[in-house]
Amino acid sequence: MPPPRGWIERVAALGIELEAGEIDRLDRYLSLLLAANERTNLTAVRDGDEAWDRHLLDALTLLPVLADAGDNLQREGALRVLDLGTGGGLPGIPLAIVLPGSRFTLLDATRKKVDIVGEIAGELGRGNVEVIAGRAETLAAWDKRSPGVLRDAFDVVVARAVGRLAVLAELAVPCARVGGLCALVKGQKADEELVEAKKALHMLHAAHAGTLDTPTGRIVVLEKRRETPRMYPRRDGEPKNRPLGVTQDRA
Ligand code: SAH
Repeated sequence: MPPPRGWIERVAALGIELEAGEIDRLDRYLSLLLAANERTNLTAVRDGDEAWDRHLLDALTLLPVLADAGDNLQREGALRVLDLGTGGGLPGIPLAIVLPGSRFTLLDATRKKVDIVGEIAGELGRGNVEVIAGRAETLAAWDKRSPGVLRDAFDVVVARAVGRLAVLAELAVPCARVGGLCALVKGQKADEELVEAKKALHMLHAAHAGTLDTPTGRIVVLEKRRETPRMYPRRDGEPKNRPLGVTQDRA
């Protein structure tokens, strides 16, 4: 199932030149994803051509942010990236395919999805991918003796379709190291969500570093300025049920 007409040009417009082997591996990933989707509900997109744009191109729009972060890495070693709420492996797997020198951790709260993504990554021979089942609230929690394994652990946290900014920021920011970034794939509501999340970002010691317009949507980039206060993220479900810094209309 090769890429549809114009797809390679659309990727090239992002400043990304893909090699034939990379296109093959992206193709292979899509086939595995769509096949797994017949058994488990991972994505509403079932059409191959549509998936090249809505999944692969959309994931690859994060590449410029990751490339910059890699260039600015002020230490030895690979860039560490977390895909928070990866679902069927998006955007993490396509990014891991084109950035073999970076290390990707794919997190999801649903064990079944994580098992499938782990299998897919194995079949693709992705040695730079690790999968974890669990909730960000627990795994990014502060604890003097045994801090969550995700806390302060990543140069960049990426996420797509996991929640509005005020909610997602509380999950993502604690996982980034100080000076690290969160690059969140958003739609046209990015500005609206940013206004709503203004207080939350302040409470989390994060700042809006910029918003990029992409062919498939918008990417909101946050920078973690200082350590996240110890009480964040709050316990499981709390970020979503009572978004940080958002006044509740109803009791
Ligand atoms: N990023 C994928 C999936 C989006 S669906 C894509 O773009 O296609 C959102 C996913 O986030 C779900 O699979 C859900 O299980 C996961 N998720 C939601 N809240 C989470 C949390 N607090 N911790 C870990 N995973 C979470």
